[in-house]
Amino acid sequence: MPFISSLLIANRGEIACRIILTARKLGVRTVAVYSEADAKARHVALADEAVCIGPAPAAESYLVIDKIIEAAKQAKAEAIHPGYGFLSERAAFAEACKKAGIIFIGPPASAITAMGAKDEAKRIMEKAGVPVVPGYHGEKQDEKFLKEQAKKIGYPVLIKAVSGGGGKGMRRVDAEKDFTEALASAQREAKNAFGDERVLIEKYVTSPRHIEIQVFADAHGNCVHLFERDCSLQRRHQKVIEEAPAPGMPEDVRKAMGAAAVAAAKAVGYVGAGTVEFIADSSKGLKADGFYFMEMNTRLQVEHPVTEAICGVDLVEWQLRIAAGEKLPLVQKDLRINGHAVEARLYAEDADHSFLPSTGKICHLRWPEATEGQFDSTNIRIDTGVREGDEVTPYYDPMLAKVIARGATRDEALNALYAALLKIEIAGPKTNLAFLAGILQRQDFVKGNFDTGFIDKNLSQLVQTDVDDKIAGAAVHALLKGEGANATSTHGWHSPWNADDQFQMSGGRELNFKIDIDGEEKTVTLPAHSQNVKTVAANGGVYVLHQGRQIFARWPDAQKHMEDHGAGQGALKAPMNGKVTLLNVKEGALVTSGDRLIVIEAMKMEHAIVTKRTGKVSRLFVTPGQQVTQGTILAEIAEG
Ligand code: ADP
Ligand code: ADP
Ligand code: MG
Repeated sequence: MPFISSLLIANRGEIACRIILTARKLGVRTVAVYSEADAKARHVALADEAVCIGPAPAAESYLVIDKIIEAAKQAKAEAIHPGYGFLSERAAFAEACKKAGIIFIGPPASAITAMGAKDEAKRIMEKAGVPVVPGYHGEKQDEKFLKEQAKKIGYPVLIKAVSGGGGKGMRRVDAEKDFTEALASAQREAKNAFGDERVLIEKYVTSPRHIEIQVFADAHGNCVHLFERDCSLQRRHQKVIEEAPAPGMPEDVRKAMGAAAVAAAKAVGYVGAGTVEFIADSSKGLKADGFYFMEMNTRLQVEHPVTEAICGVDLVEWQLRIAAGEKLPLVQKDLRINGHAVEARLYAEDADHSFLPSTGKICHLRWPEATEGQFDSTNIRIDTGVREGDEVTPYYDPMLAKVIARGATRDEALNALYAALLKIEIAGPKTNLAFLAGILQRQDFVKGNFDTGFIDKNLSQLVQTDVDDKIAGAAVHALLKGEGANATSTHGWHSPWNADDQFQMSGGRELNFKIDIDGEEKTVTLPAHSQNVKTVAANGGVYVLHQGRQIFARWPDAQKHMEDHGAGQGALKAPMNGKVTLLNVKEGALVTSGDRLIVIEAMKMEHAIVTKRTGKVSRLFVTPGQQVTQGTILAEIAEG
């Protein structure tokens, strides 16, 4: 490509890697940027050059416009691709690029601004004749007024941050009595994440399906859509599994939605890749008059690969061509849907334990056969930003990879995805692999009967809090074989065959062992040899992987035993690494079991720390803004 010779990617993780792959295919020189925490990250290794832009927190590196522009100048990059998240939807960033004479791979700043605030965007859409969700999206923000509006709209309602994104600052409220607290919490999250606490209120659509349209416009006045994606499988308003096309989508609805999306893009003078998100009322099936504009994402979307799969295009290549002034590669009538594709977002989180973020070193990683950044011979594509040996830190989004499958039919694609997920082996941080595979096995999902409430409704069947015997047994087998003994552990391996408290023979020929599983001591009865279980020795113990689940087991540690059962009484500990964003209590406060005492933010999500004790907060050890690591004692609760 003669026009763009070099590209700086102002992002990290899988999306930075994915963009680099297309740039390389097109012969474009690539420049990565990285924070100090990412010096050894995969995107840095993949790029032709890399520039360090500051300390780990995004606010001091990936989100600092001046540093990125400076890096681009230093590396003589002609263009900047912002990826998604970070600066991708900041009009000021697009402006800064322009001012520096650098091509911004995205729409004009004016289009970002027009769509940036959800309230303003809705006003523009109303004018353009695009249906919007009924609700209040005006200036007034006092609690009493908003509460009245909510009542007028009728519960359930959805409070949304005007500047929101990524599902943050959003609360569904089912009854008036819950409004005040939900509002405060939405505002707080919005203020933290976007520096803007303004909200709007919408009617909560019943049986909602999230269906969005990929649009593309060039600078010559042409605009097309590349059909829909269904992103209804969500948790906390965040997409988990996405597919294209949408199951059960009638042709007339597809046409109407496509036309509405193109109208939306045209109304703001759009250029480049964008996504118009709609919420559809599916209570009586998908209808041409039953969908409403939610927002437009003025950037490449996380789930763009499913569209690439069914349309046979490379959307990053399109972005680069259009930014260089070319016309759209295809016109509407040449775009067709071919087959079906589905994507699963693989996250570093402990799905079985409230989806707590999980950080640490990836000590073992195996992917099934797949291509990356595009599909070719295989039907599996895996876009990832991590390799074996990489550290998953608490500073950024927890997404490790996107696993995308395609097939001639939806069933084929779902089956291929399921098989691929179960072949993935990751030891170290916990992941949502088993959770994802579980979703693919739910009959309602397979049949296409679902809405955005699906995951919540099925949650209890998708998570498993107890360690199953088979896995615990496999852990004992592995430990007995001496796996984990040679590791870097400070506690040497002590053979249970010598220690008299480690096992006992009882009536049958049952052997009982005490082992430590994920930090808790358990007595395990040794079963026959387990199959389909993978063990990985590391960190002085053994990781046992089974159908997407992982446990870490080792022989009990006397030191730790003391801490947990002695001095640690009544201690409220941080369940993961993160930043304290809110203290709900003061020292001396009386608390009841179940109270939310502290809020910790990690990997961009808030997590409430709840006390299991009723009593008095005898000591508080943290202050808002403080960074804590897993196990840090946050507070001490004296019983009574
Ligand atoms: P999408 O449909 O692409 O998920 P969202 O508006 O939900 O759109 O969020 C944008 C994506 O960007 C999400 O996947 C989110 O996790 C990611 N993202 C948002 N903010 C950041 C950030 N600061 N760093 C990295 N990724 C981010
Ligand atoms: P974000 O910018 O965080 O992505 P969106 O406005 O796109 O915010 O909404 C995120 C998700 O919340 C949607 O995908 C949808 O599942 C749900 N949602 C949004 N608005 C409504 C609504 N009015 N009724 C029901 N669900 C909604
Ligand atoms: Mg959205």
